[in-house]
Amino acid sequence: MLRISTLASSSKGNTSVISSGKTHLMVDTGISAMRIRKGLEECELSIQQVEGIFYTHEHSDHLCGLGVLAKKNVLNLYCSRYLARDLRAIAPGAKMTYIEPGSMLQVGDINITPIEVSHDAADPMGYLFEHDGCKLGYITDTGRITKSMRNILSGVHALYLESNYDPDMLHNSGRPYDIIERIQGDWGHLSNAQAGEFVTSLAHPELRHIILGHISPECNTPECALASMQRTIQQLGLPTQIHVAPQACRLAWIEV
Ligand SMILES: [Zn+2]
Ligand SMILES: [Zn+2]
Repeated sequence: MLRISTLASSSKGNTSVISSGKTHLMVDTGISAMRIRKGLEECELSIQQVEGIFYTHEHSDHLCGLGVLAKKNVLNLYCSRYLARDLRAIAPGAKMTYIEPGSMLQVGDINITPIEVSHDAADPMGYLFEHDGCKLGYITDTGRITKSMRNILSGVHALYLESNYDPDMLHNSGRPYDIIERIQGDWGHLSNAQAGEFVTSLAHPELRHIILGHISPECNTPECALASMQRTIQQLGLPTQIHVAPQACRLAWIEV
């Protein structure tokens, strides 16, 4: 059994918890330490039980809770060698493990494969988590779908996937042109349609859950992202359940 719960998910903060029942991991610490502790309590876990925190990249909506969290706890952080320099400055007492795209590692009874993504950050990563034949993909903050994402995530049973923006809402958001270009560029974020294209390329009958995340509060709505993915799943004729990760509160455990 592998399961995932999200504590927060949007450009205002991202943190997720992944558990085999025996090994508990987190992805990112992009909300306050207080909210992370509270979210873990709702998962019936404590930060001391978390065996590793895997980072996607250094943007503050994925990182900001680390400093306070690391003051009272010895944390095991997993990140690229480059990101480790930033993390060491924020959390000097933490244990660091360097990871590289494509190189699988094991924490407890979960295997983790980092995946290269395309985002304007240093060595940004997505992940494949595997336990006892269950495969969970985790992709956020990427401007495009890469070949290695498709290869490594082929056959996943569940996928946490960014569905960041609706192009019309983005263009009508009043944002400066350069910001709009950044978001929809190759090193920005995935639109609802791009998320659908990726799911189409991964489609198989055992794809049981899709969790839509990092939905922009200004350039998208949960309803719009959900409707877009529902159309994709209907066209594919799959039994896949679609979930929306709430922006500011917890999504209860999804069993992969
Ligand atoms: Zn982000
Ligand atoms: Zn980012």
